[in-house]
Amino acid sequence: MKKKLRTGLSMIALFALISQSNAQENNQEIMQNPLLKEWQGPYEGVPAFDKMEVSLIKPAIRKGMELHLEEINQIANNSAEATFENTIIPMEKAGKELDRAFTYFGIYSSNVSSPEFRAVQKELAPEISEYSSKISQNEALFKRIKTVYENSQEKPLDSAEQRVIDLVYEEFAMQGADLSEEDKKRYAEINKELSALYTKFSSNVLADEENYVIYLTKEQTGGLPDSYVKSAAKAAEDRDHKGSYAVTNTRSSMDPFLTYSTERELREKVWKNYYSRGDNNDEFDNKESIQKILKLRDERVELLGFDNYAQWRLQNRMAKNPENAMDLMMQVWPAALARVKEEVADMQKVADSENADITIKPWDYRFYAEKVRKEKYDLDSEEVKQYLELGNLTKALFFTAGELFNFAFTPVENNSVPVFHEDVNVWEVSDKDSGEIVGLWYLDPYARQGKRSGAWATTYRGYTKLTGEKPVLASNNSNFIEPAPGEPVLVSWDDAETFFHEFGHALHFLSANVEYPTLNGGVRDYTEFQSQLLERWLSTDKVINQFLRHHETNEVIPEALVAKIKKASTFNQGFGTTEFLASAIMDMKYHTTDPDKIDPAKFEKETLKELNMPEEIVMRHRTPHFGHVFSGEGYASGYYGYLWADVLTADATEAFAEAEDGFYDKEVARKLVKYLFAPRNAMDPAEAYNKFRGRDAEIDALMRDRGFPVPENSETTED
Ligand SMILES: [Zn+2]
Repeated sequence: MKKKLRTGLSMIALFALISQSNAQENNQEIMQNPLLKEWQGPYEGVPAFDKMEVSLIKPAIRKGMELHLEEINQIANNSAEATFENTIIPMEKAGKELDRAFTYFGIYSSNVSSPEFRAVQKELAPEISEYSSKISQNEALFKRIKTVYENSQEKPLDSAEQRVIDLVYEEFAMQGADLSEEDKKRYAEINKELSALYTKFSSNVLADEENYVIYLTKEQTGGLPDSYVKSAAKAAEDRDHKGSYAVTNTRSSMDPFLTYSTERELREKVWKNYYSRGDNNDEFDNKESIQKILKLRDERVELLGFDNYAQWRLQNRMAKNPENAMDLMMQVWPAALARVKEEVADMQKVADSENADITIKPWDYRFYAEKVRKEKYDLDSEEVKQYLELGNLTKALFFTAGELFNFAFTPVENNSVPVFHEDVNVWEVSDKDSGEIVGLWYLDPYARQGKRSGAWATTYRGYTKLTGEKPVLASNNSNFIEPAPGEPVLVSWDDAETFFHEFGHALHFLSANVEYPTLNGGVRDYTEFQSQLLERWLSTDKVINQFLRHHETNEVIPEALVAKIKKASTFNQGFGTTEFLASAIMDMKYHTTDPDKIDPAKFEKETLKELNMPEEIVMRHRTPHFGHVFSGEGYASGYYGYLWADVLTADATEAFAEAEDGFYDKEVARKLVKYLFAPRNAMDPAEAYNKFRGRDAEIDALMRDRGFPVPENSETTED
């Protein structure tokens, strides 16, 4: 969100809103708003989390937007010839107050939300989007940006400045800033129509999730875990069906049901309901909307001079174009299909040995896969947890950061840095040799009401030379269950990996070494790679021997158990990779095919047939409910990105595995920081990766990771 706001500043929408709010709110008073004020205290200022109040949010955001738009207006209306110095630099510096206000806004929306805050959020949402689009459509501003860009094409700037102007210009142009008056009008109409279609698409999916609940009798709950039965009873009671058990039409309900239920006919029914969402030929059917969406997207990118939507979308991604992304997927696809054959054969064997008298169907896959898992890969997750204690894991993070980044972590003095909740702890991050302060790391570990689920990382203040090299303020947020006083927090292997993953994002923020805020951004198919890579240190010998110790006996986790965990990671990869790739390939096909030739009722079926999609598997997200792609644009022709990042992760991991000192090799670590972390978006990601690895990424390592055969003449994944 931050990045979008920074370059997407829009002035005009704001004025209507300001004049309105000015009537009610006293200017003077707003400037006293602690959420807008410059940060005080140690570390060149830290957020005043102790002064936060929901009532301050609305005036802070409104005033912040107003101030930012004033700055933008000044830049846009400068009568001097546009230069990097008088246009881009002030743009990069603008919006400080709003940035600060958004820091608090972010804490309220993710960490300490409340009905009171959500009302404010709802009220502000249209104002914020209006503000942002007014910047991206500010013609005078864009004219100046274009002048700087065009001049730089004749007389190139220094490399950092050149990359900034390239990125800024591209972002504005991508949003239609360079269109003629008439085209702009059509562009805006298309966007309006699209946003209505996106809302319709997701509400139809939601309706089908709510409308297809299956109620079971006690006798029909065979095979289901107690915890599932309990929550199904509660779900039934909530729907006025007390005494029965509700299987709702959502992934979190469907997935375990198909894994455990011994009732084959019910499995089929649950499967059909789930994979027919948005595809029931009724008022909630999404097929017509899909067609409209594809046509509108195509028309819109045509205005911008692109052949298809995917080409437009991927221009600023690491993959650069749809062909590269498609190539990568098609390299992995045959191996995934081959693995599915083996998995199905394994499952059929189990079914035959039980005299089940069936052929494996899609609604049997999870059920028999689970039996195979128990037989071949069984892991006692409770046993694993005894060796994964949160305090030890935190030390493991610090150790890893010390080895790779030369960072030292020291707790800040009690109460010296304000926090928004008593559970939050703060560490000072410094260079191990020079002692120079790099930043602060805030950790908010526990689940609580008002905190969103999952785990994530954010920055309160990023590093850039332009804004004065202040310490980076980075945070990690998790949802571990808070223990009773004196009890340890024991976490699952997956959660421990996630803990490392999010810390990888924090290290990416902390190690930034860039000149301009724009260069501190992330690239969607690239920015998960660094964090995924860091997960790999969890299972390195040094971390295992020092930190994966039994919380009571202090014994190191047994080697055999670690081997089992590693082996289990290849389990069911045929299924996982195939269901994912089928969705990712379809996403790309939809956005590279002339929409006039697409009949959504047929296109999916025909394309999958051409691809030899196995009968036993269905797309992870079938088209009529593929919300990543059709209820917004976040992942449209971008769903491949997960695999892209996985390829880089596996390939970079092998750079360490092959090095003299393995995962702790100083030379590879130096390159890791220099090329993969510190530059953020200051360097083209493909170029940066090549500098790190000495070549482009290859898919072989990923194939090994997933237990697939490595193709003999595998090509590189990037051009
Ligand atoms: Zn991530």
